[in-house]
Amino acid sequence: MTRFRAGIVGAGVAGASCAGKLAAAGWDVDVYDKARGAGGRLSTRRMEQGWASLASPFLSARRDPFRSQLRDWVRQGWVAPVRGNIWQGRATVSWAQAQLQNHYRPTIEPSQLVHHLLGDARLHTLSPVAALQPRTIVLENGRTLGDYDCIICSVPAPQALPMLDALPLLRERLGEVRYRPIWSFLMRWEGGPAADVIKFDDHLLNLAVRQAFNGSGLWAVYSSHEFAETYLEAPIEEASTRAASALMGLLGLPCPVDVEAAHLWRYALPQTSVGGYWLGDRENRVALIGDSIAGAGIERAWESGQRLAQALLQAEEELAI
Ligand SMILES: Cc1cc2nc3c(=O)[nH]c(=O)nc-3n(C[C@H](O)[C@H](O)[C@H](O)COP(=O)(O)OP(=O)(O)OC[C@H]3O[C@@H](n4cnc5c(N)ncnc54)[C@H](O)[C@@H]3O)c2cc1C
Repeated sequence: MTRFRAGIVGAGVAGASCAGKLAAAGWDVDVYDKARGAGGRLSTRRMEQGWASLASPFLSARRDPFRSQLRDWVRQGWVAPVRGNIWQGRATVSWAQAQLQNHYRPTIEPSQLVHHLLGDARLHTLSPVAALQPRTIVLENGRTLGDYDCIICSVPAPQALPMLDALPLLRERLGEVRYRPIWSFLMRWEGGPAADVIKFDDHLLNLAVRQAFNGSGLWAVYSSHEFAETYLEAPIEEASTRAASALMGLLGLPCPVDVEAAHLWRYALPQTSVGGYWLGDRENRVALIGDSIAGAGIERAWESGQRLAQALLQAEEELAI
């Protein structure tokens, strides 16, 4: 029996969900990521007291396939429905009152969720990819990895475009996609509202989420897109100082805020996307997935990986030629 080989670029939710599904069906799957570990925009920051997340704070499901995936993760003890209070400028309301159903938070490191998705696929970290060619992945160090039955690219459009010189059809479609940035910070402060989530009605800051480990008083604070566009090229210290002083003003805090970490997500959320779940160049056997194609959010990214895997499994006969 033919054992098909897939080479996947990007170990975020989309790449991992596709990789794991193909590997579970018996494919030989390599996943290459430039980072130290899997996760992408679900990656984790290790702290002395435990882990914290500067990346996506919530997972939410609007439709069934991802809902049942989340229910399965609840059973495994990997995610839990969000409970607690949200402070919304004037009042504190409960999560249910805010009508935010089907929102979950990881109870294990978010990057571990992505590892679970990867299943039996082989993950190659610290492996930045420079170019994609039919059946071949070229790493930045010049290594050529070839003979794949199918190549899948699962990175944000602006990072995918430089890889696609040999694939003009895909390049052209991806060129339409625009992303907006977010700065996120891990901050600690005294006082402030007794809540688990703070939703700012402000042009500088968007959201603050109390970190999971109890009693640490550590929060992840997310800027608005406008803030991140203003401080896109600013040094980390400047962006941190601006965000901390905005936060002090918004919450009326008497003492300075400690900023323990900061990260600029240059490609945080797609403003536009190609549409559909995946985009393929059938002749060259290369496909694109992820939120550049399917739209913003973990659910869409996960679904895009699943849908492409399903399509590939259905097309096995064609691939065998
Ligand atoms: C701050 C923030 C908050 C968010 N909040 C939410 C939320 O509350 N709910 C929600 O549903 N969604 C949220 N999102 C969006 C969600 O995280 C993304 O839509 C989703 O994770 C995208 O997954 P992906 O697999 O498409 O891409 P990514 O997770 O970005 O994965 C792409 C991977 O490709 C790798 N890569 C890039 N270039 C190369 C290269 N040249 N070679 C090798 N590897 C490469 C990267 O290292 C990365 O691991 C948020 C995003 C951010 C940044």
